[in-house]
Amino acid sequence: MRRQRNAKIIATLGPASSDLATIRALFEAGADVFRFNFSHGSHADHQARHEIVRQVEREFGRPIAVLADLQGPKLRVGQIAGGKVVLPAGAEFTLDQDPAPGSAQRVCLPHPELFDVIAVGQSLLLDDGKLRLQVLASDGRAIRTRVLVGGMLSDRKGVNVPDAVLPIPVLTAKDLRDLEFALSLGVEWVALSFVQRPEDLTEARALVGDRAGLMTKLEKPQALDQLDEIVRLSDSVMVARGDLGVELPPERVPGVQKRILRACRKYGKPSIVATQMLESMISAPTPTRAEASDVATAIYDGADAVMLSAESASGAYPVEAVAIMSRLIQEVERDSLYRKLIDAQQEQPLPTPGDAICAALRSVTEIVGAVAIVTYTTSGHTSERAARERPPAPILSITPKLATARRLALVWGVHSTVSPDVASVVEVVSAATQIAQREGFAQPGDQVTIAAGMPFGEAGSTNLLRIAAVPALAPRSSAECTGAAAEEAVAG
Ligand code: PGA
Ligand code: MN
Repeated sequence: MRRQRNAKIIATLGPASSDLATIRALFEAGADVFRFNFSHGSHADHQARHEIVRQVEREFGRPIAVLADLQGPKLRVGQIAGGKVVLPAGAEFTLDQDPAPGSAQRVCLPHPELFDVIAVGQSLLLDDGKLRLQVLASDGRAIRTRVLVGGMLSDRKGVNVPDAVLPIPVLTAKDLRDLEFALSLGVEWVALSFVQRPEDLTEARALVGDRAGLMTKLEKPQALDQLDEIVRLSDSVMVARGDLGVELPPERVPGVQKRILRACRKYGKPSIVATQMLESMISAPTPTRAEASDVATAIYDGADAVMLSAESASGAYPVEAVAIMSRLIQEVERDSLYRKLIDAQQEQPLPTPGDAICAALRSVTEIVGAVAIVTYTTSGHTSERAARERPPAPILSITPKLATARRLALVWGVHSTVSPDVASVVEVVSAATQIAQREGFAQPGDQVTIAAGMPFGEAGSTNLLRIAAVPALAPRSSAECTGAAAEEAVAG
């Protein structure tokens, strides 16, 4: 089975998409990565979905990535007497540390560490930015504010502080429990919410190690001040437009999205555009024209993946949303303007052997008209560097590690397969051409280009570039990876 597009689709699973038939249909319609949102659902819910995803993977013999999205330090106000209260514009309102239920005058903000960093003149946003407060005074125990935009405030609503770097860790106690659970399931990607500074990644990396890829959710304006460093330390980056669009005025989000995608391309890190992409499809079977345009724009901008949240997790048309997303991507990628735009965004290769090989791979592929690029990879790095070149032929990635194959499901243009390690250049060429045929990428007489590293199996050793003609399918020898063996490997 092979997708007819390069950019990938992430579908969030939730109440509307938890049974085998639906998850299978989502995969068939085009979902490459499934997101588990740890802001919702129990560990048992996530575990059940995880088992189903692995079952679908076995059925289709194709690696699928699972993304565990941690809630992060989402700030909330405390309880309110009667559950809700109206704050009129112009009134004064105080946030304090008194756990007593709130009123129209005050509410508890149960995050004592915030009181020292919030300064006069800054904004506090409540309930996804629906209410806006301006700080009049703060004495370390209470924050006195003026209501600039009023409205209804109910229990436990979210608080955004767009103007300050908050002295809070990126992983809360709940995140640490969720992280341990997600890693025990064996997820391929972990998303960190509300990343503020490069140190947040160092901290998470110390806990996660190489057990999963670290995805930074860019949703704090402060993170943009150190964008390059944050992208460099991340394994992938999500433009999390939900919270980003609360903390920044909406008119700034499109430009910031383009800036983040550029930085990801520069460093060769997979990028994801997320939130409200097909929002109206939560309750309608077709998207608005503006939503179709939004998905297309993300693809023209060079994103590796686009994401569905409530559309697939709790909406009425989860499979239709994935299907239309897939069609939108295919249509953009067929447009000759797409190629021009993608090429115009190309950054110089880094001065490393791996990047030199991948840049050469791209141009050799173009010159000889190779039908596929075969990359041998252990960590996934070579396939990601090849993808950074946005080459004109699909990237057939071969790895002995199932975890790597799954992780690469997120990456632009990569079709990943699992195959036992090779031991010689002769084996590299023979396995590459066989697998290219078996996976439907090449026919006898076609040429493929191959990147690999010697010694084999050593990460970061990419130094070999080959052009190979695909021979007529020979009888299978023991050195080759059969379809059955690959499926067994995927079943892991
Ligand atoms: P969330 O992240 O849905 O977990 O808040 C995405 C976003 O903020 O856009
Ligand atoms: Mn968010």
